[in-house]
Amino acid sequence: MNRPPSSPLNPRICILGGGFAGLYSALALAKIQLLEQWQIIVIDKTDRFEFSPLLYELISGELEAWEVAPPYLQLLRNERISFYCDHIEAINLEARQIQLRDRTPIAYTYLIIALGLESRVPPHPDVLSFRRLADVKRLNAELERLQHQASLDISIVGAGASGVELACKLADRLGDRHQIHLIHRGSQLLPGFSPQTRKAAERAINKRRIHISLNTNVNAIGHQGDFQLQLQQQEKSFKETSHLVIWTAGTQVNPLIRSLPGGEQGQLPVTPELQLSGYPEVFVLGDLAATPFNNSAQVAYQQAPHLAKNLKSYVFQGSLKPFRYRHLGEMLTLGIRNSVVHSFGITLTGRLGHLIRTLVYIQRLPTLRQTLTVFCHQLKRLIKRQ
Ligand SMILES: Cc1cc2nc3c(=O)[nH]c(=O)nc-3n(C[C@H](O)[C@H](O)[C@H](O)COP(=O)(O)OP(=O)(O)OC[C@H]3O[C@@H](n4cnc5c(N)ncnc54)[C@H](O)[C@@H]3O)c2cc1C
Repeated sequence: MNRPPSSPLNPRICILGGGFAGLYSALALAKIQLLEQWQIIVIDKTDRFEFSPLLYELISGELEAWEVAPPYLQLLRNERISFYCDHIEAINLEARQIQLRDRTPIAYTYLIIALGLESRVPPHPDVLSFRRLADVKRLNAELERLQHQASLDISIVGAGASGVELACKLADRLGDRHQIHLIHRGSQLLPGFSPQTRKAAERAINKRRIHISLNTNVNAIGHQGDFQLQLQQQEKSFKETSHLVIWTAGTQVNPLIRSLPGGEQGQLPVTPELQLSGYPEVFVLGDLAATPFNNSAQVAYQQAPHLAKNLKSYVFQGSLKPFRYRHLGEMLTLGIRNSVVHSFGITLTGRLGHLIRTLVYIQRLPTLRQTLTVFCHQLKRLIKRQ
């Protein structure tokens, strides 16, 4: 194998990003006996893995931060995986080196790039995003600060899954004390979702008196005391005031990706086997990979074991297989203890939907230990509530 001079003595797999794609790939690789002598390193700028589909439960208090965002060191303590908490600043594909903010450069033999996508920067710095644990903490702090308001006006921009789920959770948390406005540029909420899921979402939204404006653009946002939004619906433009604005629309690629081949366009071009075009020792997966599939945890979760098998095949000169995605269905939380699950033609809503969604996600937490601990904790809470 053609190895660069700075290559580590023992073969080393570097995994950039410890999200769904990166962390689950590391766990799958660590189980491969033939790679026992290999060093597996996961690098992430945060010290906790974030299970993003459950972040909404931290707004309603249905789950706690340690359940949704466990520290990597705790998750990996019994695994032969090293974790570095650091900012990745550059990737040098020719020298096979990663430049970090706080450490000397790291050489790799094989590389997995799983840095995901970032929220599009909102048009005003005081507008909140909703993508990471830090965003949840900021939103909870704002809700605390505004708790004395008799009624809270909240504008949520974007009626994709994040906007709809967040609106329903906030409405349930605030009870009668809210005026939530969901503003969406498109003509239909939840683009890409099934009619059954959309119908359940519309019911939940109407029940909670959440106001929706479709075909509406946000032209500008000012912040003096309250937020002032300038909105436009076709020819008609109008203003509204809000205590809080949360931006859930759009994503962007991490700036460091732009210097990689194909990265100027956005997501990285990959082969069906998930290799970076022109660099077979580099694999790309998750949201960052330009594939025909949606950007979703479900895709990243299925790609991880596939990548582990393909990497093993590549190392031992076997044949690599193209990744095939199997869509298992859709799940959305639509308020406290209320969800919709649509899978293989069956739609479950309300408490049953909530129970199924919660169980499926708990089962998918990264390690068996985390699954069992969260399951027992939730069971105790359920018994106490009963
Ligand atoms: C609020 C929310 C709810 C969602 N709900 C669902 C859902 O219900 N179902 C579903 O299928 N999908 C859902 N998704 C989408 C899903 O979370 C993503 O598709 C999935 O996380 C993609 O996995 P990934 O590993 O590619 O990226 P990520 O999970 O985003 O992981 C990328 C990792 O890279 C790290 N990173 C980035 N840049 C750097 C850097 N420079 N240095 C070091 N580390 C860095 C980040 O800290 C992060 O940990 C949701 C997303 C959000 C935001």
